[in-house]
Amino acid sequence: MEGFFAKKEVQSLSRPDGKLRTCNTCGLYSCVKTPKMQPYGNFNKGIMCIGEAPGETEDSVGKPWQGKAGQLLQKTFRKLGIDLFEDCISINSVNCRPITSTGGNRTPTGNEIDCCRASIMRYIDEYKPHTIILLGGTALQSVVFHRWKKNTGGINKWRGWCIPDQDLNAWICPVFHPSYVMKYDTVEMYRIWEDDLLRVFEISDSPLPKYQKPVIHIVDNLAALDTIKSGTVAIDYETTGLKPYQLDKNHRIISVSVSIDENTAYVFLLPEKRKDWQPLKRLLMDSRVGKMAHNMKFEDVWSRIYLETPVRNWVWDSMLAAHIIDNRSGVTGLKFQTYVNFGVIDYSSEISPYLMAVDGKNANSVNRIEELLTHSSKVKDLLHYNALDTIYQYRLATLQMKQMNNNESN
Ligand code: URA
Repeated sequence: MEGFFAKKEVQSLSRPDGKLRTCNTCGLYSCVKTPKMQPYGNFNKGIMCIGEAPGETEDSVGKPWQGKAGQLLQKTFRKLGIDLFEDCISINSVNCRPITSTGGNRTPTGNEIDCCRASIMRYIDEYKPHTIILLGGTALQSVVFHRWKKNTGGINKWRGWCIPDQDLNAWICPVFHPSYVMKYDTVEMYRIWEDDLLRVFEISDSPLPKYQKPVIHIVDNLAALDTIKSGTVAIDYETTGLKPYQLDKNHRIISVSVSIDENTAYVFLLPEKRKDWQPLKRLLMDSRVGKMAHNMKFEDVWSRIYLETPVRNWVWDSMLAAHIIDNRSGVTGLKFQTYVNFGVIDYSSEISPYLMAVDGKNANSVNRIEELLTHSSKVKDLLHYNALDTIYQYRLATLQMKQMNNNESN
């Protein structure tokens, strides 16, 4: 998988929307005691800590984590067996102290974070940390949100995941910022924070899982499905809309993907002639083959109504399982689960504009997927995307089954 740095995207970070963003366009450096604070720490364990911005104390001393929040961070790390300045290297999302008009500390603005991003990415590229701890929402905004644009949510949704980020080639671990922990100052808050950090230090010895390139078979003849006679498959339909009942309004299935394991998908455009659907219908009704989906009621209703085929032997819904494993809101979508569990941040951007309903407020509205059918390269993009959906569903379901079995046996 091509990485973030290999794509030379770091250079383009200075101009995310065509507007140049540099230290000069930010200007913070010109009114602080320590301009462009340098990374600090001996980095013995390959851990990089990214905070928000230097405060008054840090700006005076010239090093990160010197004030009250820094003292709490040092103390908590020590309790968990880590020396902040010996084992880690510390930087901030914004290298210069943001100051209010009355001389106090303030949160950096979005523009200040954008201006500093290229420098943060250069530090990541230079130090090549094995583990990156993102302390608080500003660090998330700096390192993740320019790549994760939809429904970002806040730190509450992101904290606690240890993400094997394939672009940055590092574990990305968002946790609360120590100032936030001090502000809430409850037993539960300290416990969550320490549990999250403990998990980070546990994985910081594990190698990053290597991305496995899936094998995607784009098939014209659905007879390939007749070879599947046992095991479990993941299925996913790409449709023009949400309502299989409304045939007159052109709500229909465009493509279908079936994964037979974590690495292999069969994907095809649904043939125009109903008689050519038979191998798919046979597979759906074959009770020897287990079926999985991410939100299975969607695939179930489309199978029953549109394909006129009841699905036999549903065995797993990875969306429901995601909710059982972690019931925070906004975490069960397949794209989010794929990023936090497998570190793949974006596999749909080319076609996602075509998948959104034209009128998002109206459930009867159709999307623009049919526009893709007029270009063969776009059809390929659609089928590739559809196939990856079932590959990641399969990988997710396998992981969830392991997690749930482990919990049961504990
Ligand atoms: N808060 C931060 O986010 N970083 C520091 O270096 C100090 C306080």
